[in-house]
Amino acid sequence: MGILTADRDRAPGGGKVGDRLADNVRRVRERIGEACARAGRDSAEVTLVAVTKTVGFDTVARLLDMQVFQLGESRVQELARKAALAREYVERRRRETASEVVRPPDWHMIGHLQRNKVKALLSHTSLIHSVDSLRLAEEIDQQAGRLGRVAEVLLEINAGLEPQKHGIPVGAATHLAEQLTSLESLRLVGVMTMAPFDADEPGLRACFTRLAELFQEIRAEVVRRPDFRHLSMGMSRDFEIAVECGATMVRVGTALFEGVDAG
Ligand SMILES: *Cc1c(COP(=O)(O)O)cnc(C)c1O
Repeated sequence: MGILTADRDRAPGGGKVGDRLADNVRRVRERIGEACARAGRDSAEVTLVAVTKTVGFDTVARLLDMQVFQLGESRVQELARKAALAREYVERRRRETASEVVRPPDWHMIGHLQRNKVKALLSHTSLIHSVDSLRLAEEIDQQAGRLGRVAEVLLEINAGLEPQKHGIPVGAATHLAEQLTSLESLRLVGVMTMAPFDADEPGLRACFTRLAELFQEIRAEVVRRPDFRHLSMGMSRDFEIAVECGATMVRVGTALFEGVDAG
């Protein structure tokens, strides 16, 4: 009956039971802060990218209302769809409230990218985390050039010990980074990894440390620009370890949306 369903998410006083999404965002930020403290780092160095691939646009809109503006998606079509909805939402909110507190988010493309999808992606994304071949980089460079833009990208590296579907081997990374420096409409601004799914804590730490070392090496010897600055590693199950190992961007989905309606 109506009463039961209507009252299910009401607190006794009539207000909404603690806002689960806001609580989750706060808690993840706290955990990032605690991991920074353990590592002697400033938490301003770490950007939380909220991965919205499992939730609908209603949840994205609530994130924007909470000033969470760094959002990640793993598929081009879904990223483009949500990006268009976000632009409409922001315009509507600005008309309603005559304020600028809500702005369109920065969309991070974090999933495997095929060359034939690059064109559809470029106008929506601010950072592509998943460049794993020269051919893909060349396509991004070409399409960005046509738009008169410079596309910022990360190299996806397989820093775990087992072979994985995506990401270039550690041993090939420096050479590929060097090749990318000659592309005019593409700017390499860092590296990214996904830890192996079955890794235990020492395995995760080894993987993230390996990537952090490679990041320093590429910065010192290949790219030598201050805008080579992003170390994207860590997901819901391992972002604290990643932060302790030097991550500047963590990509978190599940931990933000636990107990939240998927809308
Ligand atoms: C889905 C995804 C994430 C977020 O994973 P959670 O475990 O839900 O936090 C991070 N990075 C990539 C590349 C993903 O595809």
